[in-house]
Amino acid sequence: MRMPQRRRGGGLLGGRFMIIIIGLVGLFIYWQMNQTEVPFSGRKQLNTMSLQDEVRLGQQSYFQILNQEQEQGHQVLCASEGECLGAERTLTEGVRTIGKRLQAAAIELEAELEAQGFAFTPVADQFDWTYYVVDSATPNAFCLPGGYVAVYTGILDITGNGDGQVTLEDVSDPDKLAVVMGHEIGHALAHHGAERMSQQKVMQMGQIAVGAGLGDMDVSQQRAIMQAFGVAAQGTVLKFSRAHETEADKIGLDLLVRACYDPREAPQLWERMGKLNEGQSPPEWMSTHPASETRAANFREWMPEAIAQYESRCGPLK
Ligand SMILES: [Zn+2]
Repeated sequence: MRMPQRRRGGGLLGGRFMIIIIGLVGLFIYWQMNQTEVPFSGRKQLNTMSLQDEVRLGQQSYFQILNQEQEQGHQVLCASEGECLGAERTLTEGVRTIGKRLQAAAIELEAELEAQGFAFTPVADQFDWTYYVVDSATPNAFCLPGGYVAVYTGILDITGNGDGQVTLEDVSDPDKLAVVMGHEIGHALAHHGAERMSQQKVMQMGQIAVGAGLGDMDVSQQRAIMQAFGVAAQGTVLKFSRAHETEADKIGLDLLVRACYDPREAPQLWERMGKLNEGQSPPEWMSTHPASETRAANFREWMPEAIAQYESRCGPLK
């Protein structure tokens, strides 16, 4: 006879927390049910998006970003193929040549993982690989879902000779630029964008569940609880974004080796990028790519295997 009494004794507070708990348990189950394995690392990720939606969204935002850059006076090189000449053409073709080698490497890597029995859908041969160079001083590069790659001229000098200006010489030695592009392509192959969006969706639903449960609670109490929820959500996202960087580094290194670009350039380039930012607030692109001890340690761990692979495929490294 005691049980029902105790339940009723929970009163308003019990009812509220019941809503929160049911909501969060539901979300946890939803989270668990939408886990897929990332074959490149063995990590499980949340992905509630179809490949079609991912590619469609990638394409949409790609052309949106390129249009915005144009509107801000940052020319998209070779945007109209008829006028693709001279330096414009050399820079664009430099990027496209690296891209094509890396995309072939991606197709090969996925086929190999599939042959090894990993349950996943290869995407590299379904991507709509597109490459453009944006004439902008911002050091930036990205590969959106679907294989939509943009390289900003601001990064070409950093991956080139570092003399402070973008010249054709900067794309004459492609190994460093391949490091950046391989890493960015790694993010797309591992569906990091879709994972982030799926996580945001779940966090928003969690916020709604918590918000509904708080009901007519004291406003300052409500705020404190929502803040705690926000901090926890942010911490989770940060943890995942670090995992994403490590995964993109690992995939990028594998692509470099398969495409016969010098893998030793990878840790050197990230260190160089890190040094460029010392003493000043890093540009947004770098702040999402933290040059950390962990990163250097990862590369030290991966490098012997990468060098061995490179040499068996491409010949001895100089
Ligand atoms: Zn990254």
